[in-house]
Amino acid sequence: MRLAGKVAIISGAASGMGAATARRFGKEGANVVVADMLEHEGKKVANDIVAANGAATFMTLDVTSEADWKRVVDDTVALYGKLDILVNNAGISGSAVSDLLDTEAWDRLLAVNGRGVFLGTKHAILAMKKSGGGSIVNLSSISGNTGQAITHMGYNASKGAVRTLTKSTAVQFGADGIRANSVHPGLMPPMRTSGATADPAVRAKMLQGVPLRRAGEVDEVANAILFLASDEASYITGAELWVDGGYLAT
Ligand code: NAD
Repeated sequence: MRLAGKVAIISGAASGMGAATARRFGKEGANVVVADMLEHEGKKVANDIVAANGAATFMTLDVTSEADWKRVVDDTVALYGKLDILVNNAGISGSAVSDLLDTEAWDRLLAVNGRGVFLGTKHAILAMKKSGGGSIVNLSSISGNTGQAITHMGYNASKGAVRTLTKSTAVQFGADGIRANSVHPGLMPPMRTSGATADPAVRAKMLQGVPLRRAGEVDEVANAILFLASDEASYITGAELWVDGGYLAT
């Protein structure tokens, strides 16, 4: 098993790619903390992992709250003894915002997708330093590398921030044995908070820019996260891995 004995927190693990990653980590031998605001869905993911002979527990987390992050990291270390892996996956979409110049949307997007990743990184680093290192995987997006016509710029700005925040983490904490990498999904199943990008007509148009001519699947992103989180990627840090069917190569 590729994560035997590892302890991992995954934010936003009640749904989508976070849930797929939690299930995959469970199969690979990790102790998985399923962290999310969605208690019912999150508990189901954790229960499924346990039912499949894995180890998992659900913890309530609002990634914008520093007190929540401190509690989740402290409780994880109390329960499993250490923290090896953090996947900063929780996020909200910018494609349901009708006014592309809405200021409140900017604040909300940067709070969840930007501040949330910083806070998770901060508290994970404090714990990982004590156990000699760890691996942080941050969910950015193709939107972290490009502008987009129909998505609020706060989404792209937040995902761009995640991209470079990841590199700063790698540079500043490499000497502590902490690796940090970003994963950039492309056209995937819509997020719970998606608006325009969930529209089949919009998705069909977006597909024309994807060399593989299909949307990605959540397990294809989970595979990339698993690799970067594991010791197989022991000399990879500060990297960005595009899981986008070739979108950013065009
Ligand atoms: P999703 O909407 O299915 O899941 C996101 C999860 O984050 C949900 O469980 C939600 O409850 C949780 N979450 C939202 N706000 C939170 C908060 N404040 N605190 C704690 N949890 C919170 O979305 P997904 O498609 O699985 O997306 C996962 C990540 O991948 C996100 O960061 C997203 O921006 C990124 N991404 C998604 C796509 C896509 O097309 N789906 C493409 C590129 C990148």
